[in-house]
Amino acid sequence: MAPTFADLNLSAEVLRAIDALGFEEPTPIQMRTIPLLLDGQDVLAQAQTGTGKTAAFALPVVERVDISKRAVQALVLAPTRELAVQVAEAMHELGKTRGLAVLPVYGGQAYDRQLRGLHAGVHVVVGTPGRVMDHIRRGTLDLSTVRTVVLDEADEMLDMGFVEDIEFILDQVPEERQIALFSATVPRRIENLAKRYLRDPQRVTIAQETQTAPQTNQMYVEVPYRAKIEALTRILDLESPSSAIVFCRTKREVDEVSETLQARGYTAVAVHGDIPQAQRERLLRSFREGHSELLIATEVAARGLDIPDVTHVFNYDIPDDADAYVHRVGRTGRMGRKGDAITFVTPREIRQLRFIEKQIRKKLKPMQVPTPRDIAARRTETFREVLRGAIDDGKGAAYAAIVLELAAEHDPLIVAQAAMHLAMEASGIRLGDGTSDTTDSPAPASEDGMVRLHLTAGRRHRVRPGDIVGALTSEADINGKAIGTIDMFDDYALVEVDRKVVRQVLDRAGHLVLRGRDTNVTLAGAHG
Ligand code: ADP
Ligand code: MG
Repeated sequence: MAPTFADLNLSAEVLRAIDALGFEEPTPIQMRTIPLLLDGQDVLAQAQTGTGKTAAFALPVVERVDISKRAVQALVLAPTRELAVQVAEAMHELGKTRGLAVLPVYGGQAYDRQLRGLHAGVHVVVGTPGRVMDHIRRGTLDLSTVRTVVLDEADEMLDMGFVEDIEFILDQVPEERQIALFSATVPRRIENLAKRYLRDPQRVTIAQETQTAPQTNQMYVEVPYRAKIEALTRILDLESPSSAIVFCRTKREVDEVSETLQARGYTAVAVHGDIPQAQRERLLRSFREGHSELLIATEVAARGLDIPDVTHVFNYDIPDDADAYVHRVGRTGRMGRKGDAITFVTPREIRQLRFIEKQIRKKLKPMQVPTPRDIAARRTETFREVLRGAIDDGKGAAYAAIVLELAAEHDPLIVAQAAMHLAMEASGIRLGDGTSDTTDSPAPASEDGMVRLHLTAGRRHRVRPGDIVGALTSEADINGKAIGTIDMFDDYALVEVDRKVVRQVLDRAGHLVLRGRDTNVTLAGAHG
């Protein structure tokens, strides 16, 4: 039998709160730490991101707090403001049925708001080490009633240079207290901290096997740097993830990627260190609540954040090391859900990839960048399903009169085809007429930076290269230098253009008139 929360000696009220959150059964880290913490022991717990560490320490705190005493009985330290807010929210949810009062305190928020909260009396304070220390120094936070201290994401806090603040804070809490240290990794410095402050600590480690989500599909795409954005867009077009994170190495890249994706119709929010705190929180909330499909972030900005239900993680840049990789990929495939993790690797980074694979003892599957034809096929498939659903549901009765009228003039099959064409086009899908294979395209990685286009006009139509150059430069508004080799065939022409202007050409000059003839311009197939 699977373990249940009811087996953990939690009160009925707390069980109700858990139930309201929809948690069905405790995670391994929760199973193992909750009994120890309820028992008042010190704990050093290690488990990967996304394994439910928050509830592992929050539930015992919620359970043990004396609600009738409006005094700070538990203090949780977290590395960042976002995380402090998130933990405070989780505690609030879990403590709702008991009437638990939780206050987040962090730098960047006005003191008076926090002071009012502290003054009103709360049971739990969740804060960043710096701000908590400030409050202690100012005498606005009294730790004399604290019985439990939790260090969440302890490794991050030490990495961020909070060790002295933490020591200062731990030196202020009463002798009779419980300390719990939760961390994704336990480096030497954490061991030292534990040795110094924890008493007879119980060590709980969730083994590596359970750490890497086995249901995460891990893949890599080999792609030159400049072809990355195209590759990303195509994968997004193919997969249409409802919620994905794209990790970039630099702030500039975050801005560039999010601008490009926004321009291409995605709802994307960008989060990095230069974006003001308040705005970052708003953006993250928008993402968490599903108003944005994509979160583009630097790793630092996204650290430790609880972002549920991410279907895809993209490493736009290969992470520096295996730890970073596991950390990033840990954002998907949580809690037994399925997830995809796709890492972009430039040819010269392949060695770095092999190194990471060795460390995580797992091979990533190579993946090809989808072609426009793959994307069209997938979308058509989706569309077909939607259409079937609409038929089953008897949708569209409002149009019966129009359809009847048109069906009197034309074969209903022709009417349906045209209606379908318009509907598809409205959702941005264009299929070829089936007679040619022009919707395929070369991999976006053509080394010389040129992409080949297919034009449905050739020698037979008395079209000459000069006509094509003239039409493209004027209609697509590109420089003649962006046009490369032009190959004329009887029925068609193949034209190379600079990768940078391809989109512009297709957008503005997808239809041309050459020598009085309607001409379609599309990406050329691999055969071209
Ligand atoms: P960690 O701190 O280990 O990175 P979190 O505590 O942020 O992980 O939890 C990750 C996600 O899993 C959160 O969305 C949380 O609500 C959810 N979660 C936690 N415990 C459970 C559980 N027992 N069942 C289902 N979901 C859970
Ligand atoms: Mg956490």
